[in-house]
Amino acid sequence: MRVLVVGSGGREHALVWKIADSPLVDRVFCAPGNAGISQTAECVKIPATEILQLRKFARENSVDLTVIGPEEPLVKGIVDAFESSGLRAFGPNQQAARLEGSKVFAKQLMQRHSIPTAPFRTFNAPERAKSYLDMVGPPVVVKADGLAAGKAAIVCRTLKDAYEAIDRVMIRKEFGEAGDQVVIEGFLEGEEASMIAFTDGRTIAVLPSTQDHKAVYDGDQGPNTGGMGAYSPTPVVTEELASQIEREVLVQTVHALNREDKHYRGALYAGIMVTDDGPQVLEFNCRLGDPETQPLLMRMQSDLVPVLLAALDGTLDQVDVRWDQRPALCVVMASGGYPGTYRRGLPIEGLEDAAKVKDVVVFHAGTAVEEGRVVTSGGRVLGVTARGNSIKEAKERAYEAAKLIHFERAYYRTDIGQKAIDRVEAGEGQTDFA
Ligand code: AMP
Repeated sequence: MRVLVVGSGGREHALVWKIADSPLVDRVFCAPGNAGISQTAECVKIPATEILQLRKFARENSVDLTVIGPEEPLVKGIVDAFESSGLRAFGPNQQAARLEGSKVFAKQLMQRHSIPTAPFRTFNAPERAKSYLDMVGPPVVVKADGLAAGKAAIVCRTLKDAYEAIDRVMIRKEFGEAGDQVVIEGFLEGEEASMIAFTDGRTIAVLPSTQDHKAVYDGDQGPNTGGMGAYSPTPVVTEELASQIEREVLVQTVHALNREDKHYRGALYAGIMVTDDGPQVLEFNCRLGDPETQPLLMRMQSDLVPVLLAALDGTLDQVDVRWDQRPALCVVMASGGYPGTYRRGLPIEGLEDAAKVKDVVVFHAGTAVEEGRVVTSGGRVLGVTARGNSIKEAKERAYEAAKLIHFERAYYRTDIGQKAIDRVEAGEGQTDFA
């Protein structure tokens, strides 16, 4: 089989790494890919959002399966475009991808189908939004309706902050037309976790729990990023909680979409706040998470390709997905300055030494090859991922490897997985795997 992976980040490197391992696959392409991906796949210079060029490439190169990494092409309808040409693409179609493409749509769907989420109102005029803020008071979370690379959810602890958030989103249009509408929702107290499922629209296969770290600095301080690290499984999601999330959120969402004539196939990602009142949905994503995919695929023992094909064929009920019991953890090495401005083109040293650390894989995100050298080319540069017999051991290995890698102004958080380790040490939550 020939497989094309669309995207260029750490998630796509992990997908390429896992797909290339499948005995069913003899050629892997990636568009556009990065320096690390180019060691395993044939990189094709087509941006992930150029749907028609991607379709032409897939047709001309007899690609049997295309796996879409990022949300933007999904929300723009890449799966519909491929299917209309008889090509197979893993991911939801444009209608179903609205679950991520529009927070207003997602919140209203949850409301209509009693899927647990924070109370909210939606607005398309800033004055009305502000009157509502006067009425409910802080703390609240202001969210732009559309896609904004995970940066359009603004947690506001004072009324002044909330007014400012409305101005940024609706008046100054910092997130472009994503801010034509806003959701204002109640602030939820708790710990976050992510649950992802593969689904064919009928059956769901739930992946192990993960937790990512969105804030840029240690202790969850500073602005949100695309994700500074992740690990799996997380003790905050006990077996009981995992089945509650499966039932009340994942199954219920696929069912809700079916009832509204939107057939969801692909990876369904639920960002959850675990509160004293049970799990509440923070957001849905219509694809695998980045960096959650890196530790998840390191733990996946089954061949990924038959699972993706079964999701397309509607036969997910016939596949059994096996997971390594050992935890895995990913530390993102970023360019100094990210998520603000940063330099590109800085040479990266030590990649080979880091890859020699036991049970470590260094997934590339923002890297490129310039004059034969691997250099930085994005905000998130690498995802140093390790497996261990415990989260603590996985963490130690990932940091041991990260310390061997050098580039100017490299930055990473030093506390990825620490909340889990603290829980394990306190004997709280699901700790038998660690
Ligand atoms: P979202 O893009 O909706 O997942 O939001 C990004 C981040 O903002 C989440 O990972 C949370 O850390 C935070 N957040 C979003 N919604 C809420 C909420 N209702 N209460 C507390 N924090 C939230």
